[in-house]
Amino acid sequence: MIVLVINAGSSSLKFQLYEMEDESVLAKGKVERIGMESAILTYEPEGKQDVREVSEILEHTTAIRKVLDMLVHPVHGVLESAQQIDAVGHRVVHGGESFSNSALVNEEVKQEIKRLFDLAPLHNPAHMLGIQAVEANMPNVPQAVVFDTAFHQTMPPVTYLYPIPMVLYKKHKIRRYGFHGTSHAYVSERAAAFLGRPLRELKLVTCHIGNGASCTAVMDGRSYDTSMGMTPLEGLMMGTRSGDIDPAIVPFTMGKEDLTLSEVNSMLNKHSGLLAISGIGSDMREIDEARQTGDRNAALAFDMYEYRLRKCIGAYAAAMNGLDAIVFTAGVGENSASLRAAVCRNLSFLGLELDEAANDRRGSDERAITTPGSRVQVLVIPTNEELVIARDTYRLILDRNDVN
Ligand code: AMP
Repeated sequence: MIVLVINAGSSSLKFQLYEMEDESVLAKGKVERIGMESAILTYEPEGKQDVREVSEILEHTTAIRKVLDMLVHPVHGVLESAQQIDAVGHRVVHGGESFSNSALVNEEVKQEIKRLFDLAPLHNPAHMLGIQAVEANMPNVPQAVVFDTAFHQTMPPVTYLYPIPMVLYKKHKIRRYGFHGTSHAYVSERAAAFLGRPLRELKLVTCHIGNGASCTAVMDGRSYDTSMGMTPLEGLMMGTRSGDIDPAIVPFTMGKEDLTLSEVNSMLNKHSGLLAISGIGSDMREIDEARQTGDRNAALAFDMYEYRLRKCIGAYAAAMNGLDAIVFTAGVGENSASLRAAVCRNLSFLGLELDEAANDRRGSDERAITTPGSRVQVLVIPTNEELVIARDTYRLILDRNDVN
């Protein structure tokens, strides 16, 4: 079975084409600057030369058509016909309380995703454009949706409710949802396999540390608590997002600086985090380099980032009354040996012993970076959200075929 995985943003669209028999990637790529005359299609077919094409792509339907044209292109293509694609799986950021699992797309599911636009105004409308663009180009191909929030739907009320008037939860569904769920689910399963123990017996803290960053307490094989909240702004300090701050700072700053709600929102989402403290940028590579050449603001940004992450890991060890392993994943988690080392050195009270050489070794393999005697294991596990989406889509199609 061939599955096309799509992650549609408002002006971009990433894709990966899978052969599910061996879970191999046949091709991947992205379309950027959708809506502009000079949109860019980047395409990487397996075993063939990469392609970069600049052309006018004004909406998502055209973007999907261009992707399909490329997949069946006589020179660059990896398929003979687009009809070989059996199903399409979409990443959808917000599934609210309606989706605790992935689902096949039908009218009801589409209506529900639309009802959730309020909770994810930057993401869900763009995912819907992706779904409609596939419908327009491939009307008979089944589609599935895989939600970032679904894995966290196992959280109990004690961790998902905010201590604010209950009416706000009842009326507007204001609560913690959590994000990066496909990644946290994937790396926890891989961690259990790596440790050779059943997932339901493990207490894990999974740290998805990329441009966006979140930590999850995984207990009994389920998400028990997670640092992102109703939106992906809560929790850890991130590249450009503040993470946790005193909520009273919002009205106070609006008054003092004469800011509108949208300006303060933009400040917290786009002009805070590493960028704000370092004054350099939001990329951990730049911060780390600057810090090592003596830049004090970069050093402060790094230390705050590390401190807030470590505090979250410690809080979750307490929340679960124990900890077997910490997992690092995503851009920073997989690549920044210095961040991992700083976090681990400061958690020695847990009986955690870092293996410095293993931590410093570069590579894209799954590995432990603690000594064999370390009471808490620390693992680096590359995430693969696209594979989870492809697998869920494949499973939903097989289940549907079984029923029919
Ligand atoms: P992601 O959102 O998972 O794609 O992560 C992207 C982020 O990973 C970038 O913004 C960088 O800050 C970070 N990153 C990538 N490579 C490295 C590296 N070698 N060292 C530190 N950070 C890195």
